[in-house]
Amino acid sequence: MRFVRYQRGNEPPAYGWLFEDRIGMIEGSPFGDYRRLEADLELVRVRLLAPVTPGKIIAVGRNYADHAREHGAEVPELPLIFLKPPSSVIGPEDAILLPPQSQQVEHEAELAVVIGRAGRWIHPDNAADYILGYTAANDVTARDLQRLDGQWTRSKSFDTFCPLGPWIETELDPADVMISCRVDGELRQMASTREMVFSVAQLVAFISSIMTLNPGDLILTGTPAGVGPLLPGNVVEVEIEGVGILRNSVIAAAGRTPEVKR
Ligand code: MG
Repeated sequence: MRFVRYQRGNEPPAYGWLFEDRIGMIEGSPFGDYRRLEADLELVRVRLLAPVTPGKIIAVGRNYADHAREHGAEVPELPLIFLKPPSSVIGPEDAILLPPQSQQVEHEAELAVVIGRAGRWIHPDNAADYILGYTAANDVTARDLQRLDGQWTRSKSFDTFCPLGPWIETELDPADVMISCRVDGELRQMASTREMVFSVAQLVAFISSIMTLNPGDLILTGTPAGVGPLLPGNVVEVEIEGVGILRNSVIAAAGRTPEVKR
């Protein structure tokens, strides 16, 4: 099943479920008890929003050997995790804003795991019980700032640096699905999740041994090789086979680099 979060006109955001090109309302919450109502609302009449409003976003670095290699980095012995702030989330068709502080903003196409139920010390064999479903994510990164800082908070955290969507697919088996990224139609990234260093189940187990995972939390599972620049006017698409296509435009943000000096 596919869960969407959407807004019609000025009405408050709502969860629905998708049937072909129509949406049905959800009574209750996808993260608890719910009832699906008849799918009678045309998809084209609503604005799709990011399908989840995460409490936290845990991302995984260098989880594809080819991507680690393109940056001359080792594949880590254990999952290398970092956080992105919930304020970086945007939805399908929203614009990625290139901040004035960076001259090198890049796309990273990723499979995102949506946690459905709270858990701690989750065994890899039970990971699926804690997952609501999957969506597409773009772990947008200011590469020059990432190199400069040595740690990743600034480079990964700008507003609009976490496009999500277009919906949550609950039926996906994440073992072998293709992830691809296109910029203005040109293929930049393509790989199977089979090439992940650490599987989804291993990531859920590892992260939940550190912090409680709560409903709505997101795990970005890492990007394959082929990351590259985003420029004003680009349209970037992240496609997850069996889920869908997340499409965002790219524009230069207004604003000046602040004068912060030691
Ligand atoms: Mg990434």
